[in-house]
Amino acid sequence: MIQIDLTGQVAVVTGGSSGIGLATAELFLRAGASVAICGRDSERLAQAEASLEAQFPDAQLLAVQCDVLDAADVNAFAKAVQNRFGRSDMLVNNAGQGRVSTFADTTDEAWREELDLKYFSVMRPTRAFLPMLCDAAGDGKSDSKSTGKGNAAIVCVNSLLALQPEPHMVATSSARAGVLSLTKSLAAELAPQRIRVNSILIGIVESGQWRRRFETQAAPGQSWEDWTGELARKKNIPLGRFGRPEEAAQALFYLATNLSSYTTGSHIDVSGGNARHV
Ligand code: NDP
Repeated sequence: MIQIDLTGQVAVVTGGSSGIGLATAELFLRAGASVAICGRDSERLAQAEASLEAQFPDAQLLAVQCDVLDAADVNAFAKAVQNRFGRSDMLVNNAGQGRVSTFADTTDEAWREELDLKYFSVMRPTRAFLPMLCDAAGDGKSDSKSTGKGNAAIVCVNSLLALQPEPHMVATSSARAGVLSLTKSLAAELAPQRIRVNSILIGIVESGQWRRRFETQAAPGQSWEDWTGELARKKNIPLGRFGRPEEAAQALFYLATNLSSYTTGSHIDVSGGNARHV
């Protein structure tokens, strides 16, 4: 396994209190980074904080209650990171959830909510953390070992729906395609400032939102393994199973760190082979 030491670097993970975000925070902490996570639900956030502190007793960890759609919250989150750590090198825009609805049953209000969530969950944190990311990028000339600067990256959690829309998730698919375009534009705009911007396109990953769907949709007595296995078969996922949060986290980790120092404006598919395009 490739070892990378992120001591001295700061990773920010929005929606770090559950699922993919929590698994990503774990990876960063394991590599020695200081980590800031946020989420809306204070209880879930406190539980995540406690579980991370139990695993990493020396962790430099900050957990802030913040709704990424609320500009004041996001600015306060960035300020808290600045005050506690004085910098931010990596931003993982992960917070969010999907919306199951067809064109026939998506109201105007639901469309607006979905577009708002997908776009602003990327735009607000990106704006708020940009000054710190610019600073972390350094001037590209000084020796990164002595300045501690030289890796600045934004990674967005996106979905395979961006390229392979599903009619039963019409608004999410459409918004995902837009965010993929936004990510590409951001990568071009921020490249002169040496900030890389990439995303991961995930298929189905076991996480909080799928656990909640299992609770409402599974047949009485049906196990999690049976329910997810049946869905994976129905959806013809070549690897025959849901992904695990840590599998998405590993791709995020790669794109956030210098391991991917020559990659920007790109994405990694984490869909178990579910993409049909070449
Ligand atoms: P989880 O529900 O396990 O985690 C979502 C996290 O985001 C939680 O920490 C949640 O905390 C937080 N969150 C949600 N909305 C907000 C908000 N407005 N502001 C701040 N935090 C927020 O789900 P996943 O790990 O699966 O989801 C991670 C990302 O991956 C999401 O963007 C999701 O849409 C995307 N994705 C997931 C797929 C999957 O199959 N799992 C498929 C495609 C995309 P809280 O609710 O307390 O705010």
